[in-house]
Amino acid sequence: MNVKNKDTSMDGPAAPCVYVGDDLARYGFGEGHPFGPDRLDAFWQQACAVGLDRQVQQCIPVSAARMLVERFHTPAYVERVIGQSATGVGYLDNGDTPAFPGIYESACYVVGSVLDAIERILTGACRQAFVPVAGLHHARRDRAAGFCVFNDCGIAIETLRRQHHLQRIAYVDIDAHHGDGVFYSFEEDPELFFADLHEDGRYLYPGSGMAEETGRGAARGTKLNVPMPPGADDDAFFKAWERVEAFVDDARPQFILFQCGADSIAGDPITDLRYSPAAHRHATRRLLQLARRHCQGHLLAMGGGGYNRRNLALAWTGVVEVLMSD
Ligand SMILES: [Zn+2]
Repeated sequence: MNVKNKDTSMDGPAAPCVYVGDDLARYGFGEGHPFGPDRLDAFWQQACAVGLDRQVQQCIPVSAARMLVERFHTPAYVERVIGQSATGVGYLDNGDTPAFPGIYESACYVVGSVLDAIERILTGACRQAFVPVAGLHHARRDRAAGFCVFNDCGIAIETLRRQHHLQRIAYVDIDAHHGDGVFYSFEEDPELFFADLHEDGRYLYPGSGMAEETGRGAARGTKLNVPMPPGADDDAFFKAWERVEAFVDDARPQFILFQCGADSIAGDPITDLRYSPAAHRHATRRLLQLARRHCQGHLLAMGGGGYNRRNLALAWTGVVEVLMSD
């Protein structure tokens, strides 16, 4: 991959940070697997084709230390990933997530890059960032799930709380799959404002995210799940999005996390939604406005799913182009 060896900031320190490099690209499960190691390159080629490589701050992937991963995950689970990563034998879940050799190290680069992006945003090096290989929203505290080894979203939330002392955090997810690993880990957390538009769980993995799931106990009302019918298009998305926008506005977040999975675009091989990349641009534009209103523009986008390479390239390039407009 053609990436410069140090950060560049042609347009000054406020340009968004984008993480690219082989250490991040390597997170994947081998050629032929939907979550293969070619996804980052597919995005970056498109980003370069429209000149974004000369406009964003290119950041080198960073590895997270084990103790940072354990802000969210149990030590026993992390130990298991380390062991199976060394042997490369078996699965880390029930059959979607193979223990690829070196998967621990690759997963640590996903987490470390997300945490580095948060650090850069909160220290003023940028106001927005995009980590293409990230948003691994299915992993639970004690187990892998659905191509997700470490839940960088969950680790980001824990880090924003413990290290940066923020409380009110918005997590918005437009991936075709429900962000169950984030939802159930923070279901009782009244200051994690979770909004998720996803294909109805009756038709798609992981089967959760019903409209009635709004949070438990003191957190009731702080979660918004919007199941979309198979075949839902941009018009359906724009209409449903209005609810997400009002929800996030009411939350008055101190930081916005955005999982912009591209598997919700028409033509994805494993889902049935039919948005176009315009949906991702729209969501980014509106979240950026909300971030400016509530939290100095602080917005971190994470790539999430997307298994049609052309779709993810166009969707994520669109996300970064919109972030450039800040
Ligand atoms: Zn997905």
